[in-house]
Amino acid sequence: MPGFLDTDIKFLKGVGATRAKTLASELEIATFRDLLFNFPFRHIDRSRFYTIGELSGDDLPALQIKGRFISFSKEGEGAKQRLSGIFSDGRKLMECVWFSKIQYIAGSLKTGVDYVIFGKPNLFRNAYSMVHPEVEAYDPSKPPTGFRGVYSVTETMRKKGFTTRLMQNLVSNLFANTGYATVEETLPEEIVRWCSLMPLRDALRQMHFPDNAHALRKATERMKFEELFYVEAHILRFSMERGSRIPGYVFRTIGEKFNGFYFNVLPFELTGAQKRVLKEIRADMKTGRQMNRLLQGDVGSGKTMVAFMSMLMAVDNGCQGALMAPTEILATQHYETLCGWAAPIGVRVELLTGSTRAAKRKEIHAALESGDIDIIVGTHALIEDTVVFRRLGLAVIDEQHRFGVAQRARMWRKNSVAPHVLVMTATPIPRTLAMTVYGDLEVSVIDELPPGRKPVTTLLRYDTNRHEVDRLIGSQLREGRQVYIVYPLIEENEKLELKSLEEGYKRTCETFPSYRVCFVHGRMKPAEKDHQMDLFVRGEARIMVATTVIEVGVNVPNASVMVIENAERFGLSQLHQLRGRVGRGADQSYCILMGKVKAAAETKKRLSIMTETTDGFLISEADMKIRGPGDMEGTQQSGLAFNLRVADLARDGQILSKAREVALSVLRGNPGLLAPGCTATEASPGDPSPIPLTARSAAIVASELKVRFARSEDWSRIS
Ligand code: ADP
Ligand code: MG
Repeated sequence: MPGFLDTDIKFLKGVGATRAKTLASELEIATFRDLLFNFPFRHIDRSRFYTIGELSGDDLPALQIKGRFISFSKEGEGAKQRLSGIFSDGRKLMECVWFSKIQYIAGSLKTGVDYVIFGKPNLFRNAYSMVHPEVEAYDPSKPPTGFRGVYSVTETMRKKGFTTRLMQNLVSNLFANTGYATVEETLPEEIVRWCSLMPLRDALRQMHFPDNAHALRKATERMKFEELFYVEAHILRFSMERGSRIPGYVFRTIGEKFNGFYFNVLPFELTGAQKRVLKEIRADMKTGRQMNRLLQGDVGSGKTMVAFMSMLMAVDNGCQGALMAPTEILATQHYETLCGWAAPIGVRVELLTGSTRAAKRKEIHAALESGDIDIIVGTHALIEDTVVFRRLGLAVIDEQHRFGVAQRARMWRKNSVAPHVLVMTATPIPRTLAMTVYGDLEVSVIDELPPGRKPVTTLLRYDTNRHEVDRLIGSQLREGRQVYIVYPLIEENEKLELKSLEEGYKRTCETFPSYRVCFVHGRMKPAEKDHQMDLFVRGEARIMVATTVIEVGVNVPNASVMVIENAERFGLSQLHQLRGRVGRGADQSYCILMGKVKAAAETKKRLSIMTETTDGFLISEADMKIRGPGDMEGTQQSGLAFNLRVADLARDGQILSKAREVALSVLRGNPGLLAPGCTATEASPGDPSPIPLTARSAAIVASELKVRFARSEDWSRIS
């Protein structure tokens, strides 16, 4: 007999076979557990009347307030007209606002009459207001209906009679079932106690039917903690292995090549951030453990130089370095840059890509194996099994989000001793997220741009400003500069995408007839694409019209204008990445976001963040708040191997840190929980102290990990 939680949902009072089918097909609710963990997406609090003075915080549930309107006024004209009502609870005032049905509402509401208003209070400039509150006459005989959840109900469900009320009833039947008392705690009781968490059975009840706002907060915190605790434990139980079991080369000396370069060749002063990061890398490479480090730095922050100088450390210690880029064009650019730096100090650099000729390829393979090549730059061609290194000491991977984790792992296995790994990315992932996504990767940040860069001037413009934009492009072209014009990739409608792109291309050719325009999009054959890109890189084409397939990291310092069409279709982080393609020289550059005049105020506000800051971290954080981390470019491909149901990485940084700390303590106290074949690293002074669990508690953790991550064990091993 299945336990309570695993009982088929059709056996719940009020469900039956037909409704069970609907629940399964619409919300994937098949068991009691599924229903229990199908939390409300918001709450309404009709348990009592609130006063305006007691409201606090900016994430309040919808709630009710008793009082009177003291005045009404209409503001604005035509479509923008709104009705404002000043509502008093006898002590304080709050504004209520209506944007539609204004005449009707103004006609039906009166001042000086007792009403109950119900809605979600919004906090703006230290004052609360309600938009389109429900208003009803105060009826002292009407009992409060409580604090309830609101559930998502799909259109199909609605047609079959499902409502939020029905969902509430079903959940309530679940709690009324005597079997509910058998639901067991899924966290060790030591942790529940130690972190003052709400026990599971209470928390579940409070999630659906909170007693009050405080209880709901505690319940939510418990559910989030649990979710993040297991994610962290899962990552750590594999990665604690790395420090102790994967030895790395020890690079003892800073030698002749590094110093020769630093004192005689380095064409500029390193920024403070570059120096700091190089020190961090140097410290890692001395420990005897394999380094696994993520280097984040905004576009143009000078990551390539850090990579190169780190590879010199390898070369000085009798090892080789490899720099792997996601595309041929990028690899070629890196190769050319590195040759310029390496030649004066007698370091041999070669390039290996898919289009390297067979004879040359053979020669390179041999020279890598013999150790004649110090640094190899390339694409995926580097990870083929035929490529053998004499002693690969450091593998640098540029623009990581194009490489799968599996490919990274193949890079490691090239030696008997795993090379140090440095992953470079311009995608500014907030630290809390990086920690969760990459687990044990150490993170270094270059948070400073080389001096003398002029920040890119960012403008938000509309179709009605087209001529102004054309004038700006024209004047930059006359000064000899190059221009990108980028269109969004509309996956769900590729035909439309191609059409607007082609029209844009045509229009551009007509507007600037004396300049060569190149054209790049995703449906092109790779060879044609490369050819078009190359025209631009070499400066033959002065304008590039493209979809976002344009390569990350391509460096054309002469490009000074980036026009982004239909900018509202892009995420902020993506806009930031695109903007980074310009502003690489010393002259003034421009990024022009083309928006729709009619776009919603919210969209305009979102885009205007771009005109206000060039700080990639701020932008990424704003982006995560707006869109949620699941959408973030870079995290998708790098594979968050888990779905978060209640926690939100953008907001729950504190809970995440706590969860990680506790997970670490638990694993330290219970080595039996480590993944098979893994042993714990020695504790360092800053580590949290171990929490030994009872056998029963350890069994809970082991079984939860197994259930939750049944399918992602491989991922962890190589991440
Ligand atoms: P990214 O971090 O985007 O990969 P790059 O490594 O391509 O940036 O560097 C962008 C440009 O800045 C390059 O032309 C590089 O030579 C230059 N650069 C890097 N570091 C410095 C520095 N400390 N001072 C001046 N210019 C620098
Ligand atoms: Mg780069």
